[in-house]
Amino acid sequence: MQREGSLEAPTRHPLDWQSPDFSNEASLFKELERVFDICHGCRRCFNLCQSFPTLFDAIDESDSGELDSVDKSVYWEVVDHCYLCDMCYMTKCPYVPPHAWNIDFPHLMLRAKAFKFEHKKTKLRDKILTSTDSVGNLLGIPVVSQVANAANKSKMLRKVTEKVAGISAEAILPKFHSNTLRKRDRKRQPSCVIVVIPLVIHKDQSSE
Ligand code: SF4
Ligand code: SF4
Repeated sequence: MQREGSLEAPTRHPLDWQSPDFSNEASLFKELERVFDICHGCRRCFNLCQSFPTLFDAIDESDSGELDSVDKSVYWEVVDHCYLCDMCYMTKCPYVPPHAWNIDFPHLMLRAKAFKFEHKKTKLRDKILTSTDSVGNLLGIPVVSQVANAANKSKMLRKVTEKVAGISAEAILPKFHSNTLRKRDRKRQPSCVIVVIPLVIHKDQSSE
């Protein structure tokens, strides 16, 4: 008999990323359909992030009111809106393993993102914004950070960036600093050293 929710502690199966099935489009879409349909019937995660409302709104506005009449392009919107925080798995979902439905929404999103990257469908903007080490190293160079900060204040240049890289001209961008915390930390000298000497006096010794 199928139970409503799992009462056991969750277990997580590792991503089977070496299996040929992992990046098989038909297999991926079959799993997306299976999981999205269960989520449509459950809807507990409606307020966690933008992925779930995107899915549920598309289903509610579709011809049949079911997943079968939702355009497959919406699946990719759901995937793009997931930022892999793991909240749905960790805090909400009663169908995670060992439940027989074996729902691991973040792992499925990760699999779909990997498929998208492998098939060169990832946008330049997403590649830039997720390369935080490279962007940080480049924009941490003294002159470059000043030029980047000045460019980010220019409405005209922001429009150009929007056209070329797809980064919205309205988005609030962080200010770049060349004097990073790591550099400041390297220069910092310890001002004093505190030595803690444990002092243990037995009652019988203290009275000697
Ligand atoms: S892991 Fe993805 S889908 Fe789940 S709550 Fe976080 S952002 Fe949303
Ligand atoms: S991830 Fe789990 S809890 Fe969240 S909507 Fe889907 S089935 Fe429901």
